[in-house]
Amino acid sequence: MGPRYPILSSALLPPLLLWLLFCAVLGSGVATYLLRASAEATESIYTRAEAVAAMAEHTLLRTFEAVQGVHDLLQLRQSLLETDEAPGAYAIQSHVARLAAGGRFGITRVSTTDRDGRVVWATEPGAVGALVGDRDHIRTHLAGTAAGVVVSPTMPIGPDGRWGIQVSRPVRDGWGAVVGVGVVSLDPLTLSRGLGKDVAGPSQVAVVRRLGDGALLARSRDMEQRFGETPDPNHPSVVAARAAPSGRLGYHGVRSRRAVMGAYRVPEGLPVVATAAFGRDEERAQFRQHATAFIAATGVAMLFGLQVAMSWARGRRLRERLQVEAARDPLTGLLNRRSLQARAARMLAEARGKGQKAALLLLDLDHFKSINDTHGHAAGDAVLRDVAEVLVREIRRDDLACRWGGEEMLAVLRNCDLRHAEERAVKLRAEIAAARPGGVPGLHVTASIGVAAFPEHGAGLEELTKRADAALYIAKRFGRDRVVCAPPAAA
Ligand code: GH3
Ligand code: MG
Ligand code: MG
Repeated sequence: MGPRYPILSSALLPPLLLWLLFCAVLGSGVATYLLRASAEATESIYTRAEAVAAMAEHTLLRTFEAVQGVHDLLQLRQSLLETDEAPGAYAIQSHVARLAAGGRFGITRVSTTDRDGRVVWATEPGAVGALVGDRDHIRTHLAGTAAGVVVSPTMPIGPDGRWGIQVSRPVRDGWGAVVGVGVVSLDPLTLSRGLGKDVAGPSQVAVVRRLGDGALLARSRDMEQRFGETPDPNHPSVVAARAAPSGRLGYHGVRSRRAVMGAYRVPEGLPVVATAAFGRDEERAQFRQHATAFIAATGVAMLFGLQVAMSWARGRRLRERLQVEAARDPLTGLLNRRSLQARAARMLAEARGKGQKAALLLLDLDHFKSINDTHGHAAGDAVLRDVAEVLVREIRRDDLACRWGGEEMLAVLRNCDLRHAEERAVKLRAEIAAARPGGVPGLHVTASIGVAAFPEHGAGLEELTKRADAALYIAKRFGRDRVVCAPPAAA
C-alpha cells in the first residue's frame, strides 16, 4: 500500500477560500464604485458643460464691456462736438482708432453715423460717407425701436469683405434725441478663439448665438466654415435661453444628428446666449474607457491574488507532505517507529483515561534473511510491502500499524483485550500465509506474532513491546508461523 495524501484539498482550501473572499470584496467594491460613478457620469458631463458655458459667458462679458466702453467714448465724442470741444473729440477719435488698429478684444473697426445712416466718422478713412442705414441693426436704432445694444449677425463688412459682428448703440444729443448710431465691429474669429480656451477635445464645443434668431456669432472651432449659415430661430439652445437665463440642455444636433448634452447662459443685458455642447456618446465613451481600465486592473489584482494564494497553497502542501513523509516508512507506507511511539503513547493514555483496554501485536517474518538470499533483495522488499498491506487491511481505521524494524511490524489495537487480540493475530497470520506475499512462485512467507495487552502486561509502550517481544521469541523457539501471547505478569 502507498500512503494516501488527503492534503490536496486541505492545503488548497484555505488559500482558495481567502482568495475567493478577496475577489468577492474587491469585485463588489469595484462594482459599487462603477455603478455610482456611472450614475454620476451624467451629472459630471452637465457640470463640466456648465463650467465651460460659464467661462464662455465670462469671455462675452469682457468683450462686450470693452465694446460698451467704446460706445461710451462715441457718446462722449458727440457731447464734446456739441459743446465745441473739438480737441477733446479728436483725442477720443485717435484713441479709438488706435484701439481698433490693435484689435484688442477683437474690436476691428469703429464708426458712427448721422441720423440718415451715413458714416460720419470711422477708424478707417475710406468708410466715411458710406450709407449703412439700410442695415437692420442700425435701422432699428434710427427708427427708435431698439431697446439698447443691438448685435448684428456675422456679415461681410467693409471693402475687404471680412466677416464681422457689429454691435450698435444710438448716439444722442444733449436732449436725448437720437442723432446717429455708434457701430463697433468685432472679429468673430477672435471671439471664437476666446471661447475655445476651456473646451477639451473634439467632442466639446462652445457656441455663441443671437437670442433673437439663433444666428451663429462665434464657435470654439470651425467658425470660418460656418460664416453665412442661415440662422435657426428654433435652435434648442436659443429656445431654452428665451425661457430662462441659464440651464442644461439635451438634444440631437440639427445637422450632425448626434446626441448633445450641454449647458447655456445668457450674459446679463446682452441679446446673445453662450452654449457649451458636449457629444454625449464621446463623453460616455470616455467613462466606459475609464471603467474598462478599472475592471482590467481589478482582474490583474485578482490574478495576482490567485498567484499569491497558489504559492501559499503550494507551501502548505509541501509542508504537509513533508510532515506525512516524515511520519511514514517509505517502503511500506506504515508509520515509522518514531511517529508510532508518539501516537501509541497518546492512545494508551486515552485508554487509561477511559478505562479501556488495548493490545500490541509484534510481527516478525520467518526466515526473511533466506528470502533475500534466495530471491533477491527486491523480492524481499515486495514481500515487506505485501505483508504491510495485509496488516493494514486486518486492523481498524483507528488502530496503528508501524514498521518497527527491518522485517518487524507492530500493530497497536485500540479498545481490544488480550483474547480478541490473539484472535486477530491468528487471523492475521493466516491471511499473511494465504496472501502469498512477494508474488514469487514457490515462495511461502510466514510470520510469527507476539501478543501483549494493556493493562495486564504493562502500562507503557516500552514495557508492552518488551513483553510482546518475549512472546515472539517463544513463537520463534517453538517453530515459527504461530501466535504466542505473553504470559500473565505474575507467571
Ligand atoms: P527469523 O525467522 O529468526 O526471524 O530469521 P530471519 O532471517 O527473518 O531474521 P534475521 O534477523 O536474521 O534477518 C532479518 C533480515 O531482514 C536481515 C536483513 O537483511 C533483512 N532486511 C531488513 N530490512 C530489509 C529491507 O528493507 N528489505 C529487505 N529486502 N530485507 C531487509
Ligand atoms: Mg527479525
Ligand atoms: Mg525474521
